[in-house]
Amino acid sequence: MLYGTAPYSLAANAIAAILLSVTADPWVSHTRNVLWLCTLLVVCGGRGVLVWAFLRVPRQPEEAGRWSLYFLMGASLTGAVWGALGAGALQPIAPWLMLHEGMLPTALLGAAMAALYPHTPTFVAFVLPLTIPFVLRASVAPEPLRQGAVTVAVAVVAAIVGARKLCAATKANILLKLEAAALAVQYQQAKEAAETASRTKSAFLANMGHELRTPLNAIIGYSELLREVAADEQLTQFSTDLAHIEHSGKQLLALIGDVLDLAKIEAKRFDVAIEPIETAYVLEAVTTSGRAFAKTRENRFTVTVAPGVGVVLADPKALRQILVNLISNACKFTDHGEIRLTVSPEPHGNGHSPRRVCFAVSDTGPGIPREHLPLIFDDFHMVDSSSTRRNGGTGLGLAIVRRLADLLGATLDVESEPGRGSTFCVYVPAAEPSRAARTHEYAMEAP
Ligand code: ADP
Repeated sequence: MLYGTAPYSLAANAIAAILLSVTADPWVSHTRNVLWLCTLLVVCGGRGVLVWAFLRVPRQPEEAGRWSLYFLMGASLTGAVWGALGAGALQPIAPWLMLHEGMLPTALLGAAMAALYPHTPTFVAFVLPLTIPFVLRASVAPEPLRQGAVTVAVAVVAAIVGARKLCAATKANILLKLEAAALAVQYQQAKEAAETASRTKSAFLANMGHELRTPLNAIIGYSELLREVAADEQLTQFSTDLAHIEHSGKQLLALIGDVLDLAKIEAKRFDVAIEPIETAYVLEAVTTSGRAFAKTRENRFTVTVAPGVGVVLADPKALRQILVNLISNACKFTDHGEIRLTVSPEPHGNGHSPRRVCFAVSDTGPGIPREHLPLIFDDFHMVDSSSTRRNGGTGLGLAIVRRLADLLGATLDVESEPGRGSTFCVYVPAAEPSRAARTHEYAMEAP
């Protein structure tokens, strides 16, 4: 900092000295005046070389003390040359000129504050030789010079105290900035490490998918087979246990499926191909699954498609998975109620071509308390109520729905009233009417 501002303060010193010397010349000894000016210019020049060397030569942190000392010596020498004026170096012809000699160090004191406050020892080393000669000389001179000596002495003490405070505040500020920069680096490194670890974990889980599902499918398949054999052989005492094995196996398979889907999405290995697709094509598979889910708790399942829905821009597999997850939740939490899938266009500003298509899954189930709604799409978030506990789950279904919706550029919305039911909406971008939909073979039964 000191060396950074030094070129300006050295130039200011030299200019001030030349101006002073020229204006004072008629009133002082010419020879002494020239000698004093040359001395000051030589000192400023020497310090200029020092600054030039400092800025040019590559420096090591351990050399900082040495460079500070050089600077301090240079500043002290400059202060002493200026201070020589206060000691009467120019031999003024008129006694009133002594007052000027007192004002000069006070003015320089103020200027030095701005340049030297970052290093209090250098400030002191400049200020003391600058002012002490005048203070000593004036204190033994007649009034009002004696008063001038006291004023300058007080100003020196005040300036040193002020410079110390300013220096401490600047140091604290710099330390704070360094700490903030170090923290920012640490944060970035920790974030990158965490992201790498998370990606590695997700990649591992995604790779494990096949290894986990294969034996589990064998367990489920064999338990189904054994149940059929037990039924044929009238071995009723085994049927219930075998049904338990099959049911638990299926639950475990669904859980593994959820965890693996999440891992796949996080590892960016869940491929989505967004293309124009006929809404009816997506609904075909969803309707079949919805009917099967609804039967479990004797719910009624209906699908309503508003006219003008047409083609949406989405990945059919991902959109189906979103809707199946929402319908399976609705069926899981609703008993003897109604589950509706409604597909309708969201009107564009002009009311004609839809900008987005809304797929709404509503149920007449227990609903979700208001305070849980903002958290419902978070990983592992489950509403802590007896009905949800009874229905089991992992708290991952809606987290997967959210991530899939993000991949499709779709948005989600949920409305719910405890005791009356819930409605989950997925807003999927609609394709331009001119864009042809991918043609698929499908046959959709009436709901
Ligand atoms: P899971 O169903 O495996 O618990 P989800 O992420 O699918 O996990 O759902 C999180 C929680 O949201 C559920 O535990 C349940 O409390 C609540 N929830 C989701 N859908 C419904 C719904 N249709 N009706 C009532 N509660 C629901």
